Amino acid sequence: MDTAIWWIRRDLRLNDNTALYAALTTAAIVIPVFILDDRLLHAPRLKGARTAWMLQGLQVLDQDIQRLGGRLIVRHGPPVSEMLAVCHESGAAAVFWNRDYSPYALKRDQSVRQALNKAGVSTHDFKDLILHEPNEIPTRTGKPYEVYTPFSKAWHAVPKPPRLPDLERSELKRLNPPIGLRSDPLPTPEELGITAAPAPIVPPGEKAALDRLVGFLHQPVYGYKEGRNDLPSPATSILSPYLRWGMISPRVCLGEAQRVLERTPDPEARGGIVSWISELIWREFNYSILINHPRIVRQNFRPQYDAIQWGNNPQWLDTWQSAQTGYPIVDAAIRQLLEAGWMHNRARMIVASFLCKDLLIDWRQGEAFFMRHLLDGDLANNVGGWQWTAGTGTDAAPYFRIFNPLAQSQKYDPQGEYIKTYVPALKNVPPAYIHAPHLMPRTLQERTGCVIGQDYPLPIVHHDQQRPKVLMMYAAART
Ligand SMILES: Cc1cc2nc3c(=O)[nH]c(=O)nc-3n(C[C@H](O)[C@H](O)[C@H](O)COP(=O)(O)OP(=O)(O)OC[C@H]3O[C@@H](n4cnc5c(N)ncnc54)[C@H](O)[C@@H]3O)c2cc1C
Repeated sequence: MDTAIWWIRRDLRLNDNTALYAALTTAAIVIPVFILDDRLLHAPRLKGARTAWMLQGLQVLDQDIQRLGGRLIVRHGPPVSEMLAVCHESGAAAVFWNRDYSPYALKRDQSVRQALNKAGVSTHDFKDLILHEPNEIPTRTGKPYEVYTPFSKAWHAVPKPPRLPDLERSELKRLNPPIGLRSDPLPTPEELGITAAPAPIVPPGEKAALDRLVGFLHQPVYGYKEGRNDLPSPATSILSPYLRWGMISPRVCLGEAQRVLERTPDPEARGGIVSWISELIWREFNYSILINHPRIVRQNFRPQYDAIQWGNNPQWLDTWQSAQTGYPIVDAAIRQLLEAGWMHNRARMIVASFLCKDLLIDWRQGEAFFMRHLLDGDLANNVGGWQWTAGTGTDAAPYFRIFNPLAQSQKYDPQGEYIKTYVPALKNVPPAYIHAPHLMPRTLQERTGCVIGQDYPLPIVHHDQQRPKVLMMYAAART
């Protein structure tokens, strides 16, 4: 075959990329195409940090391709007509892509497939975003897994797809669109109306992703099991934005982790690696749930909670979103999200629990807010995380698991360093009061420059008073 298209969607990398590898194996010339789809670019729940980061990531990918002598073709418009047009203009006989599993992506891909096939262009799609699709991990009853631990056991038992052979530079040089083929400019975030993009926690790009993985597996992973919940000095990899955008493949992440595991004798260090791999499996589990139950993107995984009468107080939602709850750990976490486009996993659980179980606000409101601001915002994992914390999801522990924000703060940020990083108003507050600064005597408030009600708000609610309310709310829904 002369010419084929690699349709890039959330696989912004050249190495270990199934669709790209297959395209280069089949065709003499491969055209890398990214389509800017207004349905996604302008969706209010998506238009934010992640889109800005994606645009930067596309620039980096284009530079990587240009270094090989080619260029990225960007088209702005509806995927069906744009893909038909590129095929027509370039004479491409086939389009290759990696599968995505959101309800919108599935519908879009089906329309593109039908239109291309009708026009005589063959289409080829591949598993790449995850290591296993759910049909590869059958249960004995034939029903899909709905609980993490048995899923994880079954997942381990299935042979893993190996990473693909590295492509030679000479092969990648065939990523070379015809000279006259039009490419639309990448918009700036401002042109898309994204005015407050954060300073991203990590730089985009395939090289940055690989460097991060290598750095993490070199040493920090050994302390992952012990340190993964520490808020001030995160012991996690911060690879999630890269995995979200496919700047690194899950095969490389798992393969490298297993390689390090094989040559690590120390039990504690091994524990860290095993624990990290189990988080990669959570990602797989969340995808399995989304693929088997696409309704969960809007509906409770457990329908018995559909009857919950959420309070949904709009002022409280606004207070939570603007980091003014008066609970320092919650406000610090939201500010981390707004400033860096990322939030520590422990902090995600704390703020999510606080929204649903202290402010009595529907998890869907928090999920939408996260989706707008997270670089790694990903339907399967975001909905999975929110439903898990709200108690409406796959969590085997029931709804009465309620995080106490004060206890969480004391345990995971004992000296208040995380809090002080993101809430400067509290920078002089001593550790004894950092978790509940409203308890400071007035003289101390003045001395530390943090007068409650003026420099930092009073707590929006009292956790001890909210707890029985939320328990009643959930119990009422169940009966
Ligand atoms: C309310 C809530 C919302 C969340 N939303 C998202 C989201 O939109 N996108 C997202 O990728 N993760 C989400 N998570 C999961 C988790 O918080 C992040 O994946 C993790 O914090 C990313 O940081 P890291 O890369 O340093 O993770 P590490 O701890 O280094 O873990 C390595 C990788 O494993 C995966 N992973 C880790 N923890 C989880 C988990 N609990 N569930 C699923 N996968 C996991 C991620 O891909 C991560 O990059 C959410 C969790 C909660 C509680």
